[in-house]
Amino acid sequence: MLTAKNQWGETVYIGDLIKKEGVHRLRDNHYFCPLCKGKVIVKLGVQRISHFAHVHLSPLCVEYDRESMYHMQAKMQLFKWLETECSKVELEVFLPDIRQRPDLMFTFQGNTYCVEYQCSLISKEIFEKRTNGYLSSGLIPLWILGANRVPRKQTNLISLPKFQSLFIKKNNTGGWYLPSYCPKLKSFISITNLHPLSPHTMQCDYNVIPQSQLHLPQWLNPIFHNTFYVSNWRKGIQQVKDNIIRFQTHYLFLQELYRNQLHLYLLPPYVGVPLKDNLLLETSPIIWQMYVLLDNLFLKEVGSILTKEIVYKRLTKRINRNHIEVRNHVKPSVDQLLTLIREYLFLLTKCQVLKEINPNVYRYENPLSFPGTISEASSFEEQFYNNITNEKIVWY
Ligand SMILES: [Zn+2]
Repeated sequence: MLTAKNQWGETVYIGDLIKKEGVHRLRDNHYFCPLCKGKVIVKLGVQRISHFAHVHLSPLCVEYDRESMYHMQAKMQLFKWLETECSKVELEVFLPDIRQRPDLMFTFQGNTYCVEYQCSLISKEIFEKRTNGYLSSGLIPLWILGANRVPRKQTNLISLPKFQSLFIKKNNTGGWYLPSYCPKLKSFISITNLHPLSPHTMQCDYNVIPQSQLHLPQWLNPIFHNTFYVSNWRKGIQQVKDNIIRFQTHYLFLQELYRNQLHLYLLPPYVGVPLKDNLLLETSPIIWQMYVLLDNLFLKEVGSILTKEIVYKRLTKRINRNHIEVRNHVKPSVDQLLTLIREYLFLLTKCQVLKEINPNVYRYENPLSFPGTISEASSFEEQFYNNITNEKIVWY
């Protein structure tokens, strides 16, 4: 902990205390835990960060007392940074109504934010409980992932298991990102343009922004340009397909393909496309987009009519049968899923599979074209990605 109460009941912050009192007098004074009122002592750090620790730990305070050095360092750095960015910032305030203690609390442009810096694993239930606690008190939770928990695979590829995925959020213009902070680099890590290849592997941009170069409005709502790396994406999609075949994951999906005399390696190139809102679904875009084709176009007569509502109804059936999984913590609304479907139908119009004959009314225009060989599949794909990147559609 970085704060405690002194013998007069005033809240003191370890950093100020060392500055004011000097190191030697600290040991003579008495300090108490604001939560359990138990005695705490100052632990002075030379290489480690100075902090308060309980003499006798009450169960109430276990979580706070065991905060890692990494956590405390980040919290202190963010506290000092916020002090320069806004007028009111508090460290480790206990909120009795909801019995929660955010790392930092600050007010900016009329809103009060609670920062939860998380560098150890917690369950989705705790994450949601705390989130709801803040919201019920009219406070805005800001979850920041410790950079020690960011498993970067390659320059533009990241693996975000269930815990890390909880931190994904949307900016005001609908771009997906994940906010992180690294106390060792004294920098914000902004992971943007998240495009999931499979439930947890995502293409992304990874930006390290030194504290001095970032200001609060950008932190609260990062603005970034859309990017997309075609050759990486194609490689990633191929890998996901290889894994599906090798490990026979998604057995039902493969069975359905075989039943229809289709093969995973011989699908049209517009299956497995990174749409702006693919993140709403946890299922790989290869699988859910292929289900959309199977349910709405495959074996249907050319000339038949579709709307996004019809596609949505069929998608919901797949979700109810667990063929397609929704990314639960994102809790997509019906409107958001309809937008995602619209993105996909729009892409299919660009591929001349569909034609939008009236707003939101599509006619099946040209039959789905399945490649006959692997090399044909590859050249279809090449051509497809050349066309869409030239036209800058969908995610630009
Ligand atoms: Zn305590």
